[in-house]
Amino acid sequence: MNVVTRFAPSPTGALHIGSARTALFNWLYAKSKGGEFLLRIEDTDRKRSTNEATQAIFDGLGWLGLDWDGKAQSQFKNLKRHVDIAHKLVDLGKAYKCFCSKSEISTIRKNSKSSGKSKLFESPWRNVDSTEYPNSNFVIRLKTPLNGETEILDEVQGKVIWKNETIEDLVLLRSDGNPTYMLAVVVDDHDSHITHIIRGDDHLSNAAKQKLIYEALDWEIPIFAHIPLILGDDGKKMSKRHGATGTVEYQKLGYIPAGMRNYLTRLGWSHGNDEFFTTKDAISWFNLEGINKSSARFDFKKLEEINKKHIGIASTNELMKDLKNFSNVSSKINLTNSDISKIEKALYCLKDNSKKIPDILSKAHFLITKRPIEQDERASIALDENGKALLRELTPFLEDAIWSREGLEFAVNTCLNKTNLKLGQMVQPLKAALSGKMSTPSVFDMMVLLGPGEVQARLCDATHSTTSQKGTQNQRKF
Ligand code: GLU
Repeated sequence: MNVVTRFAPSPTGALHIGSARTALFNWLYAKSKGGEFLLRIEDTDRKRSTNEATQAIFDGLGWLGLDWDGKAQSQFKNLKRHVDIAHKLVDLGKAYKCFCSKSEISTIRKNSKSSGKSKLFESPWRNVDSTEYPNSNFVIRLKTPLNGETEILDEVQGKVIWKNETIEDLVLLRSDGNPTYMLAVVVDDHDSHITHIIRGDDHLSNAAKQKLIYEALDWEIPIFAHIPLILGDDGKKMSKRHGATGTVEYQKLGYIPAGMRNYLTRLGWSHGNDEFFTTKDAISWFNLEGINKSSARFDFKKLEEINKKHIGIASTNELMKDLKNFSNVSSKINLTNSDISKIEKALYCLKDNSKKIPDILSKAHFLITKRPIEQDERASIALDENGKALLRELTPFLEDAIWSREGLEFAVNTCLNKTNLKLGQMVQPLKAALSGKMSTPSVFDMMVLLGPGEVQARLCDATHSTTSQKGTQNQRKF
């Protein structure tokens, strides 16, 4: 079977993290089976379906690297086909025109409730001959079976059964001539040859109604897999209260797509005890059996841990792309081309232990900042009179150093041996002098990257001044 999955979001203004996971599962399943993954924008609600809302979906999927096959479809553009199918069902005797007004419907419902019926609305038009139809507003309703059961063999939820006597004749076409979601989704999934519908379990009861439409049309029914919703850490449905909900917020926080894909895949799906894996692994392992039946709780700590590991294994190209994308969405970051090329050269050490992109940028401070280096609070403490004295001891040893990591380690060790000092004592003021901060890459990496001239100047600034001094005054030759 050629597997075809789809993601069918309604544009709401942002791509919710739960929807992103639904898209990811569909994408992974299609990829794992060598099939296709389609994107359909369910834009029939014309008020909410703005270009910006649709763009937010494209951007969110694009950032996560979830590419779809072919062109994204617009459900609204299929309107004529939906209307035709509704009328075809009337012609087939599987649906009928219902002329009940809103007030008639509510009276019928009230009466059924007081007489204890399981189906609250039964239309008096269900069996009326079309020759007797009046010339007034109508909706088209499906004739749902009066008895028996509708069964969905869901790949995640197992067998789920509904008594048909509880399913009302559902509306397919509204009185304004617009199709309902229930009809449009079936027609579009059929026309796109969708084989697997993987979506949130809030759509489970819709599956029963949709199955009845498939049956009325004698169309093949796709395989359903309804995945549990994502919960916040308190077990309630994930919402703004728990933290970021839109994918763009995660992008702005500095998570990288590879980390997000790993975390979201693991959120409600498992492959043994594997927590950290690449997208390539996920594609080869992904299956519907691995989807958990119970809801998963979003755990920001775990996301950070996984993201950190992905930053650690990312290639320079990949990470630079992530960094540029991050600086594009973050209004606070303004990197010049020269900053970017400095960061690229230093990335091997900047990414060490970085959980998110801002950690990389914060460590890159020593490369981007200009002399005189401004000290933050902790750095000025490290650079007290004692700290300055230590740096004065070190300075001559650096003069003859070979400017490589090994050469600098040798020079610093020689100084420590001669002065009976410990590396930890020396590192603190050195970090402060070189970067003005205490959270930095290793002092050796910083010195190699800055080069002898700049290191000399920064040490001179730090050791010769009580206040910041302008660079050219205290030049020494190393
Ligand atoms: N448009 C629906 C939604 O955004 C999804 C429909 C479906 O997957 O069947 O919830």
